Amino acid sequence: MAKVLILSGAGISAESGISTFRDSDGLWENHRVEDVCSEGCLDTNGEATKKFYDARRADIEDKKPNYAHKVIVELKHQYPHAITVMTQNVDNLFEKAGIKKDEIVHLHGFLTELRCRECDEIFEIGYKKQDDCFNTQCPSCGGELRPNIVFFGEAAPKYQIMTSELNECELVVIIGTSGTVLDVTYFAQLTDKSILNNLEPSDAIDDRYFTKVYYAKATEAIGEIAEYIEEFLKDI
Ligand code: NAD
Repeated sequence: MAKVLILSGAGISAESGISTFRDSDGLWENHRVEDVCSEGCLDTNGEATKKFYDARRADIEDKKPNYAHKVIVELKHQYPHAITVMTQNVDNLFEKAGIKKDEIVHLHGFLTELRCRECDEIFEIGYKKQDDCFNTQCPSCGGELRPNIVFFGEAAPKYQIMTSELNECELVVIIGTSGTVLDVTYFAQLTDKSILNNLEPSDAIDDRYFTKVYYAKATEAIGEIAEYIEEFLKDI
């Protein structure tokens, strides 16, 4: 288990031009969460849900990782065993910055993948529209395909990995998340040291529990955060 867990949310990708979630009144790209990313919406609102993720996939094609993604990937490569990188983001900006698939955990899924609703097999499709892939059926079992995204109300299997990492790590670093989905205040209480970086305070986070708090753009705060992490790890 790693000594340091770096956990990011939509805010880390904001400076790369991918819009966050809560910053626009709980809408995501002008859609209500209940309509396109909640449990059941594939059955009640399937076409709109598919279109929404087709558009999100197309939107990230030209987006580039920013300095914060790059520094985190460098740190991970420098301390592969001491640092775990996890993100709530479904974009691929860490990957574009050079992280490999097995070096990051995407807690809420990944936009460029489809998953079979029957057999759970996962398929990479790049930036294509869902219906342009595999004659719309799972190539393995013929089942119905869906975006490989964890919708609100659905189980998030990778939370198990997050819980084990949190129980073992000594420093948790939270970047660009409002804490509405994950209770990051609790994460800070679980670990010896903790860092929070957001643009501004959030109603869902009690920042008094964090060892260090940076209310600044991630690209501006990441230098000091990286120094803190390196200092923390210097004896290993
Ligand atoms: P959120 O939208 O609820 O909160 C964004 C947070 O980022 C806010 O606290 C804000 O202060 C902070 N922020 C904004 N710009 C920042 C910057 N430049 N530097 C540092 N911090 C900044 O995001 P969330 O907590 O991640 O929850 C949203 C959910 O929606 C996630 O579960 C995620 O799966 C999904 N989502 C993903 C993406 C993506 O993949 N890029 C984008 C939108 C939403």
